[in-house]
Amino acid sequence: MHIAVIGTGYVGLVSGAGMADFGMNVVCVDIDEEKIAKLKAGEIPFYEPGLKELVAKNVKAGRLSFTTDLAEAVKRTLVIFICVGTPPAPDGSADLSAVKSVALSLAETIDEYKVIVTKSTVPVGTNRWIKQLIDENKKNDVKVDVISNPEFLREGCAIEDFMRPDRVVIGGESDHAIAIIKDIYRPLYLAETPFVITDLETAEMIKYASNAFLATKISFINEVATLCDKVGADVITVAKAMGLDPRIGPRFLNPGPGFGGSCFPKDVRALAYLGKQNNHPMHILEAVLTVNERQREVTVQKVKQICGDLPGKTIAVLGLAFKPNTSDVRESPALDIVERLIAEGAKVQAYDPIAEEEFKKAKPELPVKYATDPYEAADGAHCLLILTEWNEFRYLDLEKIKNLMAEPAIVDARNIYEPARMQKLGFKYTGMGRGNFAGQKA
Ligand code: NAD
Repeated sequence: MHIAVIGTGYVGLVSGAGMADFGMNVVCVDIDEEKIAKLKAGEIPFYEPGLKELVAKNVKAGRLSFTTDLAEAVKRTLVIFICVGTPPAPDGSADLSAVKSVALSLAETIDEYKVIVTKSTVPVGTNRWIKQLIDENKKNDVKVDVISNPEFLREGCAIEDFMRPDRVVIGGESDHAIAIIKDIYRPLYLAETPFVITDLETAEMIKYASNAFLATKISFINEVATLCDKVGADVITVAKAMGLDPRIGPRFLNPGPGFGGSCFPKDVRALAYLGKQNNHPMHILEAVLTVNERQREVTVQKVKQICGDLPGKTIAVLGLAFKPNTSDVRESPALDIVERLIAEGAKVQAYDPIAEEEFKKAKPELPVKYATDPYEAADGAHCLLILTEWNEFRYLDLEKIKNLMAEPAIVDARNIYEPARMQKLGFKYTGMGRGNFAGQKA
């Protein structure tokens, strides 16, 4: 089986390397020449645990290669995966310009039957539009089938998610094309991964509905957490007890500074946009976005409550990535929160194990002092603000931190520390929704 993967970002590179590891011949294509040059030189353009090794192994085995030449890449392939970005447009809709450009390039080049599989997250109706674009612009009278195969991997554990997904969704109209894609995923089928075979529109909607629901869970618990703070309840115990109900489930009930990343914010906005387009406003999703925006402000307010007005204060920010184990800062809460802290007069000393360069690229104008470790960040600070729950922040030498800081105060926006212990150690401490710290009695 020969496969072309177009778009060599988080999804394309992980999927390409994963399918090569299943034993298929995969060529990954990108228009970004620098990215392809790096990959050819054995470098991975972003941080994802295990990816460097997986790519190297499959390149060495001769099953994985990289190119900027789309026409050449698709010549030998039966199946073409589209994995380009679908970033948010200013009005909240998904920007499909990269998808359109790929579809038109494919129309130019294909001269035999192909199965075009969309892995990019695209609004309902897009796969039908891709087929129409190709059919209307193709230079040869060849048949093309289009399949929707949304991807659910999470950055930070993307390889594990690709290799052992909770489900594989395949939407399409042609039984022949569906059978080809099922065959690609045969190793998962044998491992009894559930397959959902459906039509194009349903497959597209499954992806958006899943992300929007997870984002809703996060905004829900964030809103409950802030109320817990006001009324003296402990959200950790509340979430634990809620999660014991199998109808609710324990995951995605951790309060924090709001969700970020390249998927949840844009996918929620795009689904809300689709609702508006169809004269069906999605009231819950509008509220999810409002609560998420407010959560940034809640976090800044906590810093102000713990150390007073910000002019003349130094804030040590631990964590810039939107979550641990990734270098991705797209829509990271840190972008917004650091900017607000500086706008209100604070100095910011920040540390992130991996994401510093990406943060600098995203906010070159911010006068942040970047530290080489958490202790350098804490040096002279009036408040330590934990924004990302990197494992290395869970076992800090707290005595050392206390001695380095101008004031021993911590805003733990990820609830990685126990309030009672922190108070005992002499910190002014606040988490998210920890109320009166009574928590669980036994
Ligand atoms: P990304 O920005 O990391 O990568 C996209 C790549 O596509 C870039 O390397 C870009 O240069 C390339 N590209 C753009 N236009 C191109 C063209 N015309 N031809 C060839 N290459 C082109 O994006 P990503 O995070 O991998 O996301 C890709 C899609 O997958 C999005 O729709 C996203 O919503 C979805 N998705 C992402 C994740 C995730 O965790 N990142 C998870 C599931 C689904």
